Amino acid sequence: MNILMTNDDGVHDPGIWALARALVARGHAVTIVAPESQRSAVSHAITLHKPLRLTPHFEYESEKNISVYSSNGTPSDCAMLGVLEVLPGADILISGINGGPNLGEDTIYSGTVAAAMEGALLGVRAMAVSMSEYGMGDYGLAASFSAGLAEQLNNPELPKRTLWNVNAPPVAADQYKGFRITRLGTRKYTDILQKRIDPRGRPYYWITGQLVRDLDDEDTDNAATAAGMVSVTPMLMDLTNHELKNSLCITDPMS
Ligand code: MN
Repeated sequence: MNILMTNDDGVHDPGIWALARALVARGHAVTIVAPESQRSAVSHAITLHKPLRLTPHFEYESEKNISVYSSNGTPSDCAMLGVLEVLPGADILISGINGGPNLGEDTIYSGTVAAAMEGALLGVRAMAVSMSEYGMGDYGLAASFSAGLAEQLNNPELPKRTLWNVNAPPVAADQYKGFRITRLGTRKYTDILQKRIDPRGRPYYWITGQLVRDLDDEDTDNAATAAGMVSVTPMLMDLTNHELKNSLCITDPMS
């Protein structure tokens, strides 16, 4: 397969390299188009008011079957540059491996997931891969699982505009405990906004928070990852509330 990769942690991040090398070891060719520096939590931002540059990275020349470019743009810019300019015939776009989880409604903020979604919007099958826990983990299982899944997704029976969100525990491949096909769970944080006082006596704010997983529903990505399993969520790009749309709960405000 000809695989396009991007991420939101930057072109030199170990996560993207772990997966790129796992894909090459299985006989695939990888082209990386990734942000030049850390761009986490920028969601689906794109750059409209300044030039986008593509920089080839010759320092990675010794990496067999991996071509590397960086861009000054966002993760979604990189997905566009990759799909439309660098590798128009890509069989799949993979974004990641992100250094922390992208579960539940947090996927809305994620640059990793947005870049994959941009690929799907442009008509390429796409997958986002993240570590289900923070910390200096082992990319082995995430890389091996998602390389195998990418091969399955390269299936002519599967529609092209699809997006798969994968979260895998930060452990070696031999620690694998299985996977679940899940739905997005609910995001709950405590102490989201911290207010402090700067040395000049003025208040400032820091967005932070402690994640409290909602584990009530077995069906969710939260529950699967909390059980140490890999979570795979097929995601939609249609945010329409179909239930409300069909419930005729409003009358004509103009009548
Ligand atoms: Mn990130």
